[in-house]
Amino acid sequence: MNRSSSYICVTLLGLLILLSGCHRSSFPTPAIPSADTNSASVQATSGIPVYQRKEKVTTPEAAMELLLEGNQRFKSGTVLNKDISITRRTDLLRNGQHPFAVIVSCSDSRVPPEMLFDQALGDLFVIRVAGNVITPVELGSVEYAVEHLKVPLVVVLGHESCGAVTAAVEGGETKGSISAVIAKIIPSVIQAKSENLAGNPLIEQCVNLNIQSSVQDLKKSPILKEALEKKQLQIIGSKYDLDEGGVAILS
Ligand SMILES: [Zn+2]
Repeated sequence: MNRSSSYICVTLLGLLILLSGCHRSSFPTPAIPSADTNSASVQATSGIPVYQRKEKVTTPEAAMELLLEGNQRFKSGTVLNKDISITRRTDLLRNGQHPFAVIVSCSDSRVPPEMLFDQALGDLFVIRVAGNVITPVELGSVEYAVEHLKVPLVVVLGHESCGAVTAAVEGGETKGSISAVIAKIIPSVIQAKSENLAGNPLIEQCVNLNIQSSVQDLKKSPILKEALEKKQLQIIGSKYDLDEGGVAILS
């Protein structure tokens, strides 16, 4: 083969490779959904099983198991799809709600109970208030859920690095009605400071004591006390770890 023939062969080979590449690229490639469209979540979750549970959960133990399983899914990033269809919403309207747990959680935007327990519509009866404190208004909501909806489990959910607790520890002037929240946390601050703690350990101990204080406030309710004595109800304290994603049950 002479030089010009070799040149033609190489050129033809290059052309074939180019054409072959063009042919492959002419196949449709899956569209990457942009972050600002709803299609992103639809495509990302398609094929994942939809969360379902027994409609009526009557024991505290079964309710606890559902919460812990859900938190494990959240923590490991394996949350299930939720049925938010009109059919499901209509069912809940016609048949009424049967939530299996009351969650009294801090209002902190990083602590949404439905998400971190991987639950859906009709599953949790949620009361959110800064510092997860119990005043007569929060207590009335819990009593309603236990007495009328027969919810078998009440969980007070605090969390690490709570801003309301930190504000109570740091003291200083509070304006408006914020002082009403701080006043509920102060007894826990006094108790924690008597343990000679400082810095972050002091704040975390205040968080723990404040959770337990709310549990004790709930247990003073005659309505809740009656359900507790009949073993129809459990009231527990728990703490959420912001970065790990886990919820620990406090003894
Ligand atoms: Zn908080």
